[in-house]
Amino acid sequence: MKPWEANIRKVVPYTPGEQPNERGMIKLNTNENPYSPAPGVEKALKALDADTLRLYPDPTAGDLIHSIAAFYGLKDEQVFTGVGSDDVLAMCFLTFFNSEKPILFPDITYSFYDVWADLLRIPYERPALDEEFHIRKEDYFRENGGIVFPNPNAPTGVEMPLSEIEEIVAKNPESIVIVDEAYVDFGAASALPLIEKYDNLLVVQTFSKSRSLAGMRIGYAFGNPELIKYLNDVKYSFNSYTMDRTTIAAGVASMEDKAYFEECCHKIITTREWTKAELRKLGFSFQDSRSNFIFATHESCPAKELFTALREKHIYVRYFPKDRIDNHLRITIGTDEEMKKLVEFLTEYLQK
Ligand SMILES: *Cc1c(COP(=O)(O)O)cnc(C)c1O
Repeated sequence: MKPWEANIRKVVPYTPGEQPNERGMIKLNTNENPYSPAPGVEKALKALDADTLRLYPDPTAGDLIHSIAAFYGLKDEQVFTGVGSDDVLAMCFLTFFNSEKPILFPDITYSFYDVWADLLRIPYERPALDEEFHIRKEDYFRENGGIVFPNPNAPTGVEMPLSEIEEIVAKNPESIVIVDEAYVDFGAASALPLIEKYDNLLVVQTFSKSRSLAGMRIGYAFGNPELIKYLNDVKYSFNSYTMDRTTIAAGVASMEDKAYFEECCHKIITTREWTKAELRKLGFSFQDSRSNFIFATHESCPAKELFTALREKHIYVRYFPKDRIDNHLRITIGTDEEMKKLVEFLTEYLQK
């Protein structure tokens, strides 16, 4: 060990899904949207005057905050924004999870939560999902330093009913409960209406999945103005100019096109339901997904083998070599054409 190593902040980083870039590949491994961002986004980018980049961006990202608030019928003071919801969530962990008591999140969930907790030295416990990959609300009715879970959960796609989320929030007035709604636009119920009733609830969403802007990096959170102020205090104590001018312009243009957004979500939901039926015929099983992916296991063929076989055909899906889920594949919903090609390949492969 080097003499200076004792003072290093050591952490095992999050591993993002791979980003291959091959012609003709079918990329179903990182839950991106197969459709382009709203047409207004391209226009907004083309209209950008490079000369304005001399100037710092608006540290409050006011235009973007305002367009998000307007879309959801909220006040600007109820909205926080950051560079992807990963940034928003990291700021939330830093701001709200400062107890000696452990924070709680499921054993099977978004694999960034434990990384932030490790990085920030936040103690945590991970109640196990039940056999059908459902969050057991009772596991969150005990002393804790905060609670976070996605709804629908990732990588399972399982939705928790809003009534159960409300119970968790209501039973934990002494902690902040964060609901990570990265996939909520694909057919699940948002906890957003509950922020008027509970001052300890924060709802986090992203432009990366349902708004086709993973490459732009925009996330946001809803909560009562007091929570949002605490978040901003921490953000401005860390880095005030996180969101650049380009991103703000693209985000505003995206939020303004509600019809396009709804059309894309609708197409993905339709393709997802078609894919579910086809996968079932092929011997796959899965919990009902309300997200833009399906978390499936096959009755006879090991997930790892399928993952490798698909990869050789340049069809990328996600495989997690982790306890309890190492016989599952997480398959993002692409276009109809992509999903047909996936099903065709699987049909042929599983017949052998
Ligand atoms: C994709 C995802 C995020 C992060 O998305 P950003 O691209 O950083 O906005 C957060 N939580 C979950 C559960 C996700 O799947």
